[in-house]
Amino acid sequence: MTGASLQQREWVDGFLFVGNQLALDFLNTKPILEGEPRELLPNAAALERWLIASGIVTSQKERALVRAWRNSRKGEAFVQKLIAFRERLRGAVLRLEAGLTPGDAFLAQVDVLLKEYPQRTSVSKQGSKVVLDVFFEPRKPEDVWAPIAAATAELLSEVEPFRIRQCESESCIVHFYDTSKKGSRRWCSMNICGNKLKVAAYQRRRRPV
Ligand SMILES: [Zn+2]
Repeated sequence: MTGASLQQREWVDGFLFVGNQLALDFLNTKPILEGEPRELLPNAAALERWLIASGIVTSQKERALVRAWRNSRKGEAFVQKLIAFRERLRGAVLRLEAGLTPGDAFLAQVDVLLKEYPQRTSVSKQGSKVVLDVFFEPRKPEDVWAPIAAATAELLSEVEPFRIRQCESESCIVHFYDTSKKGSRRWCSMNICGNKLKVAAYQRRRRPV
């Protein structure tokens, strides 16, 4: 995805998409907004919206399957497990940002999830090309582990840790994968924190000493 199109979709249906990587976008579902931590995945209905906003759920059939989890005991219980995993992911990301490797227990959990919930793939002909696609089949809430575990594994194994960073704004806990050429991205988004920081720096410079 290009920088320009990414900026246009910073917020989708009330969710933040500035991470440049699905596991980081998932991590950013509990940002600090107006000084308070805000849980953006409080229930199965919110998870349904996030799955659509993130592009994991696309077809009408998938939407209908996920809609059935709303207000269901299984759906709500799964959301609690998912956000507990998200907080362990936060711990792993903070370790990567500190130059460490992720903890063994977390890595083992991701490994189990990958094996229990593998991503489904398909091949089809598109014109003269054969295309391999990953698809999501949400038959039960636990199937959400497949895209989440795959994205987490990708983050841990394929992304250069020095390009994983937390926004420099003091009150912001958004993390992102810096894909800029120079590796010099400093904040989650120009609109959310960038302008605020620039104004603060400008005011500091203008203040008489
Ligand atoms: Zn920020």
